[in-house]
Parts: sequence; structure tokens; C-alpha cells
Amino acid sequence: MIPAGKILKKHAVRPRRRFSQSFLKDDNVARKIVGAADLRGQDVVLEIGSGHGILTRLMAPRVKNLLAVEIDPQLVAVLEEETGSRDNVLILEADILKLDLATLLAGHGGERKKIVGNIPYGISTEILFRLLTHRRLIASAVLMVQKELAERLTAAPGTKAYGIPTVLLTMYARIGHLFDVPPPCFHPRPRVVSSVISLTFRERPLVELSDENHFFRLVKAAFAQRRKTIANNLRAAPELGCKQEDLEEMLEKCGLNGRIRAEMLTVETLGRLSNELTTARRGAPSSGEEGKGEGRQSEEGADKESALEGTGNGGHGIVTDMLLEFPDR
Ligand code: SAH
Repeated sequence: MIPAGKILKKHAVRPRRRFSQSFLKDDNVARKIVGAADLRGQDVVLEIGSGHGILTRLMAPRVKNLLAVEIDPQLVAVLEEETGSRDNVLILEADILKLDLATLLAGHGGERKKIVGNIPYGISTEILFRLLTHRRLIASAVLMVQKELAERLTAAPGTKAYGIPTVLLTMYARIGHLFDVPPPCFHPRPRVVSSVISLTFRERPLVELSDENHFFRLVKAAFAQRRKTIANNLRAAPELGCKQEDLEEMLEKCGLNGRIRAEMLTVETLGRLSNELTTARRGAPSSGEEGKGEGRQSEEGADKESALEGTGNGGHGIVTDMLLEFPDR
């Protein structure tokens, strides 16, 4: 196989900044990424941002099908030339944020797909949230992101890096910060260090949530102003629908002092708090008697995934919509 660096030269590819193009040119790092993805012959892999195909070429011989998504037509042409002869590779010229992922991931056999990619850094968080939205169709993901984002996703409560992306993704996935990749491994060199992360979606969320939408809104509200207390942040969020007089009590029930800041709370605590507030909002008896509350039946009946995916917004769902407004993403 010709080295990655040579492919770029051979095709005279000029990196385009608007697509966050920074091509991996180190074949050892590429092998390490593919190794981390733990690919099997029966796997169907979705590669995001295939570029000139350094990962694509390595993965194609190892898997059943490879769906390679790339937005830039000049690179699609390169991919077609370099990997197009393999009939298990499907090259899709598309924007990963606009693609109908539900249909794509549900097709090509029933198994959950593996996701791999050295993804465009400008839209990494959006991509992660789209994967979260479609997590039931995904087994795992191995992705190259900015080191800063990798640190944020794996941050512990009480640290500055701990925030909305940490909480929402940790609720549904185990996240590993696998290894770092320095700028000289890329062309052009990025200004930041990169990291390869892994995401394995849990069978069940860390806490069984009675209303996922509420949880997302709560997390967003709780971190809205990081220096404010949780009580003040939640008070400023009428969309949570919790009565002011209930708030202190609910916080106490979760063993929380209202003067604490959201960044001190674990993912589990935020999940439990959302459940308490949801129950209170419905005017139902809390925790122990869960399930008897008014309105619970109908809401429970709704497909949980629909809460995430939403409709009429290109299938991006509430998480992505919310994310676009996040100050600290
Ligand atoms: N995987 C390659 C390229 C990484 S650079 C490598 O490791 O060398 C990121 C790639 O994502 C680029 O090829 C870029 O064109 C592509 N890309 C950028 N935005 C995209 C989008 N919205 N949808 C799909 N691909 C995108």
C-alpha cells in the first residue's frame, strides 16, 4: 500500500480550511486507530470524513461493509480512485450533519454499526450528539478529536472541563481517552494536539430517566451560568416546569444544597434530580411510588428515542438543537 503522504501528493489535494481538513499522514497512527476500533469481518463501519482514505484503505479489507462519508467532491474522487474498486466500500458524498443517519445506520444488515473517523474538529460536538441521538443503531465509535474535547468528555465533576457534553454523553456512553496524536502527524499541521477517543454506548443509561427531554433541559439550565448556584440556574429556567417552592425540597431530597454549583454534581445526581423534578411537576408522589403519577402513563408510552430525535428539524433532535445554543461547546 502506498504511504498516506504520497497519496496527497499524487492527487495534488489542496487542503480546504472550510471543511476543517487536516489529513493524517502517519500510517502508524492510522493502524493504531483502526486497531482500537477492534474490527471484525462481520462489521459494518461508518467512516466520517474519509478524506484521502488513509483509514478507509486500512479498514476496507477487514470488514463486511464500509460506508465512507465525505463532503468534499475533490476527495470523493480521490477515494473512488483509491478504494472504489472494492465492492464492500460505499462512498457517499454528503454532509454528515445533514445525512439521514437513521436510515443509513438501520440499513446494511441489522447489526449495530461501528463508527470510525478523524472527524472535522469544527463540528465534532455536533457529530457526537448526532451519534448519541442514534445510539441504538451504534455499537461503538473510535474518533479523533481535539485533545481539549477529549479532556472535556472524560472530565470529572468539580473540574473546569466538566460540562454539558460530559454529562449528556456519559449518561449514555462509556468514554475512553485512548491516546494523543501530535500536530506533525497531520498535513496541514493543526494548531492543537489531537486525541483518539472511544465511545461505547451503554445498554441502559446510567440512571433510568423518566423524561429524557427534561434531563437535557435540566443539564442545559444547570450549566447555563457556571458561576451561579444550581438553585439560581434552575430558578431562571421556567421551561423545566418546576414550582419554585418545590425546588429547594427536591434539591434536598437528592441530598443537595441549593448553593452548590452544577459542576460539582455527578451525572447520576443530575439524572436523579431530573427524575425528582419531573415527578414533582406532574404532581405525583415522588420516588418510591413512581409510576402512579398522573400523566406518567401517556408520557412513558411515547417512544423514548423520539424524545431525542424529534421531528421536523432534519432529524437532528433536541440534543443537537440545544447544543447549537450552548455557550461552552
Ligand atoms: N480521515 C481523513 C481526513 C480527516 S480531515 C484523515 O484522517 O486523513 C476531516 C475530513 O472530514 C475531511 O476530509 C473533510 O473534507 C471532511 N468533512 C468536513 N466536514 C464534513 C461534513 N460535514 N461531512 C462529511 N465530511 C466532512
